[in-house]
Amino acid sequence: MLAHRTALFKASGTAAARTAATAAIADGRQIIDLTAGEIWSELPPTVREGAIAAINRNLNRYTDTLGLMELRHAIACKLSAETAQPWSAEEIAVTSGAKQALFNAAMALVNPGDEVLVPAPYWTTFPAQIIIAGGTPVFIQTRHNGYVPRLTDLTAAITSKTKAIVVNTPNNPTGAIYPRDTLADISQLAIDRELWIIFDECYGAFTHAPHTHHPIVSVAPQARARTLIVNSFSKALALTGWRIGYLAGPKAAISAVKALQSHTTSNPNVIAQHAVLHHLQSGDTAFQLQLQRDVANARALGLSILSALTLVPQPAAQGGFYFYLDLTKLQRRTKLIGRGVNADDVVNGLLMDAGVATVSGTAFGDPAGVRLSYGIDLESLDKGLRRLTATLNMWN
Ligand code: PLP
Repeated sequence: MLAHRTALFKASGTAAARTAATAAIADGRQIIDLTAGEIWSELPPTVREGAIAAINRNLNRYTDTLGLMELRHAIACKLSAETAQPWSAEEIAVTSGAKQALFNAAMALVNPGDEVLVPAPYWTTFPAQIIIAGGTPVFIQTRHNGYVPRLTDLTAAITSKTKAIVVNTPNNPTGAIYPRDTLADISQLAIDRELWIIFDECYGAFTHAPHTHHPIVSVAPQARARTLIVNSFSKALALTGWRIGYLAGPKAAISAVKALQSHTTSNPNVIAQHAVLHHLQSGDTAFQLQLQRDVANARALGLSILSALTLVPQPAAQGGFYFYLDLTKLQRRTKLIGRGVNADDVVNGLLMDAGVATVSGTAFGDPAGVRLSYGIDLESLDKGLRRLTATLNMWN
């Protein structure tokens, strides 16, 4: 018998979507894959140089559990520039991607029985990790408010067991960027009700004018003592496989995380750490700026194609690199009944009829949404979105 906890969560729904796409491709089908949570890109030259230099220096040993001191310092400098506040290396933990930073946060904050507010649709790992830590995710619906949680809804959901609020902006999957006022309200609520804020800004490098990303500690410096910031280089530098992320927060929380990480993974991969350190020390922003331009071009192309959708509203796509389609109106159309009306059925239909792989909103707690990634090459994106638009319009 396995432990009861294994029954509490399933493998990531986004990973399942990728597996379905890969299986269809292996069957010889011409599938355009819009499921990826990563950007199709070359390796940043600075990262390549840093990694090769580290290998040539024979760097094969453990580092400090929370990462190289120089890297923690370099990340503290980056965060100081981003937040206009001073950060020190002792307030930074380097982790194996943002996923481990979030896991550390959940394990360090959540007692069995605690509740954590999670705006929905949500990135699929947030509730899973809260559950693994023994807590209960409490979902706050956001669709009716442009995918941004309302203060009244958050306030109404707070109980004596509430421990934290997850704030993910720019948001995966919805692409929403939380306005400054919302972040100010959430911070005040956290202070008034003595809650932690888990602030995931993994997509902060990708914002689309006129929207801008606001680090919550810049909006409300007074909430810093109860905020854990989560970020990584996975999206900003298209380095998903290198697994370097970080957690930033009060020193006491970072020390607890050090103890935890010392018993789980120890330090993140030493070569990847040196590679990212070299990138940060180089001060070279050319790669990241080009990546941002590429993502912006892909977004513009995608929106122009999706503007032909008849029953699906144009996605806002304010930040990140996802279009999130609201299927509510389409699902009400009777023609679809018979082949199913929930997002899973729409996703299966798109795979079968259009040869386009997408991620069902059910992976994000939303049976009326579909996520499309535009972090792929323009030619495939163009073809995939044209096929998808034509197919969805046919189902009207
Ligand atoms: N947070 C969000 C909102 C994400 O979408 C992802 C990855 O998709 C992560 C964290 C994890 O990123 P990493 O690859 O750095 O672990």
